Amino acid sequence: RILLKLSGEALTGSKDYGIDYKTVHRISDEIVNVHKNGLEICIVVGGGNIFRGVAGGIDANIERSTADGIGMLATIMNALALQSAIERSGDVATRVLSAVPMQTICEQYIRRRAIRHLEKGRIVIFAAGTGNPYFTTDTAASLRAAEMNCNAIFKGTKVDGVYDSDPDKNLNAKKYDKLTYEQVITKKLKIMDASAIALARENGIPIVVFSILDSGTFVDVANGKGNYSIIDRGES
Ligand code: UDP
Repeated sequence: RILLKLSGEALTGSKDYGIDYKTVHRISDEIVNVHKNGLEICIVVGGGNIFRGVAGGIDANIERSTADGIGMLATIMNALALQSAIERSGDVATRVLSAVPMQTICEQYIRRRAIRHLEKGRIVIFAAGTGNPYFTTDTAASLRAAEMNCNAIFKGTKVDGVYDSDPDKNLNAKKYDKLTYEQVITKKLKIMDASAIALARENGIPIVVFSILDSGTFVDVANGKGNYSIIDRGES
């Protein structure tokens, strides 16, 4: 059982804002393929392609908790778009479970219900992050992965792993194939926020970082192939 963390940005494709359906369809097809290979999949989707509490709140002079409310609602939009895209194949049922009750649109998050959906072979999409302001969907990913007893978190990003500096800006950036949770925190590597890493560490959940922009990578990486970095306790 794995948890896929998709940032909102992953859904924008080449656009600057919002949802690019071609990209969403491509990612959804990969998710369905990985599911067909026998993995149970749950997904936490972000909302940064539509609204981010901190930045959006400052720009619009909206109080942080309210701005984060807007951010959480953005994740629900993305979750519904992803659900439709995954289900268009007709091969797999999907449920959106929101941490903020939205009862006429999707189910409310209830841990046991989510586990039951996974056991029945449904893909579960967790929306609205943790349901609390001042958190991110990365922390929601670690939290839900722990609650669902996931074996790993797959974090789809714009690059093919964790680098010591931004590879888009520094041509000499060095990629780590393997690193520990401690290294991520002490080196302040900006792959996930510190609370997300700490939660994954406490629960011993490995984090696989890979590029969601390259077609076919999720399928490869879920099979242990291709390019990725893995963050774990570093004991083996
Ligand atoms: N958010 C929140 N609580 C959560 C998760 C998210 O308040 O538990 C809000 C926050 O404003 C955040 C926005 O939702 O900026 C979108 O989430 P995030 O920035 O994590 O999305 P991503 O960067 O993955 O696209």
